[in-house]
Amino acid sequence: MIKNTTVQQILAKYKPVWALSYVNNLAAWDLETYMPEAGAKTRGAALAQMQVLIQKFFTEKDFVKFLDAAEADQDKLNDTEKGIIRSLRHSLDSYLKLPTEFLENFSETTNEAQVAWRKARENDDWQLFAPHLEKIYQLTREKADYLGYEEHPYDALLDEYEEGETSTNLDKYFAEIKPFLEDLLGYIKKSNNYQEEHELANEKYDKQALKQLDDTVLALFNYPIDRLRLDESTHPFTQSLSIDDVRITTRYPGSDYAGTLQSTIHEFGHALYELQINKDLQYTPIGSASSLGIHESQSRFWENFIGRDQAFLNLIYEKIQALSPDIANYSIDDHYQYFNNVSPSLIRTEADEVTYHFHIMIRYEIEKKLLEKELDINDAPAYWNQLYMQYLGVSSDNFKQGILQDIHWSMGAIGYFPTYSTGTVLSATIKQQLEADLGNIAKLINDKQDGFDKIKGWLAENVHQYGATYTFHKFVKMLTDKDFSSVPWQNYLTKKYKQLY
Ligand code: MG
Repeated sequence: MIKNTTVQQILAKYKPVWALSYVNNLAAWDLETYMPEAGAKTRGAALAQMQVLIQKFFTEKDFVKFLDAAEADQDKLNDTEKGIIRSLRHSLDSYLKLPTEFLENFSETTNEAQVAWRKARENDDWQLFAPHLEKIYQLTREKADYLGYEEHPYDALLDEYEEGETSTNLDKYFAEIKPFLEDLLGYIKKSNNYQEEHELANEKYDKQALKQLDDTVLALFNYPIDRLRLDESTHPFTQSLSIDDVRITTRYPGSDYAGTLQSTIHEFGHALYELQINKDLQYTPIGSASSLGIHESQSRFWENFIGRDQAFLNLIYEKIQALSPDIANYSIDDHYQYFNNVSPSLIRTEADEVTYHFHIMIRYEIEKKLLEKELDINDAPAYWNQLYMQYLGVSSDNFKQGILQDIHWSMGAIGYFPTYSTGTVLSATIKQQLEADLGNIAKLINDKQDGFDKIKGWLAENVHQYGATYTFHKFVKMLTDKDFSSVPWQNYLTKKYKQLY
């Protein structure tokens, strides 16, 4: 797989960077799960130093020399080797362009901002967070200038999460899906089946029983128990340390059991991607998936096409009835409607398949405006509410369920949100391809373990094995022979929700 001697030499030099990233990821996982709260400041300082060390290894003369040599010989490289070189060049470029003091400053600023954000959110106090966000945007503008861009400073930021993505592309994409979603939502809201909130969302459950349901579902998917673990955290996430050590988290807020279940399945989809990367890519920069869009397509695939499917509900219905006597009183049809209830709401992470994308469009618009200084930080909360009214017809009377709901900006992750939308849309294209090869997903679900093994095998072969070998658009082209398109996703949503409503 990796035969070119120059690439092999590069990988030998890359190993300390791999090791530092490994420890970095472990510390990041610990930060979100088991670290005592007061450890945040020193953890932040340690992680910032780690970044500086990684930069040092990356920009070492020998390393750059080897990389130049491999690039000069591109024609002789296979796809895997090309992927390694592309990925390293992408990282090296930013490490060369961003001064060490800037990296340190950015890291410290965002560490402090995260602490401030948590407090601000808890106390519903925007003013506690506003000055931090101001500083983050100031640094982010500098970052875009250091990194460089052709058309829009936002492109420099996008490139960090989705290599090669541009705002011109995304403007076109959102302009295409927005009227489609407005029409579909309009149709749904007129239906007799429309309800703002499903009663099941408010039913309390027995936490132990829901934990058991999570375990049952993971066991149904036949997950590798020695390579994947499930913990609890405030915000569910997936952290991969290596192809043999992937961690996911979930949460149990007390009601809305489907929210927890679907979130566990979502993170399982992320984890499966990391677990099924070709082991030959271990210790290389492409041994972990890098395109956030492809990643999200995998979590959404499991969450929406399996976790929200009628056949899947049938499989787990008995366990659902054990959640509480009240929950057991509802019919299976009620549960199905609850799993797929569409209604505009304030919280992005709890949004349904249809309204979700409006949450992303709102953030995308605000991020660009703040970056270009077309919007003042102090006016951002009012603008946030204005856009929520405009896109979803809802507005929050507090910051907690409004502009303070997401962690991303406090982490300096600006340009990240669009991948949630494009990834979700890509998942429908992948479903279409998979069904063309294996037949209907519902039928596969009915086959239980056998069916899930087939789905996993197909995803491993067609998506997972490559790790970060290809960028988002290149990957889509390879898989479908066509450019990225929202049409399969539009067809999927239309068919599903015109049946439900
Ligand atoms: Mg996700």
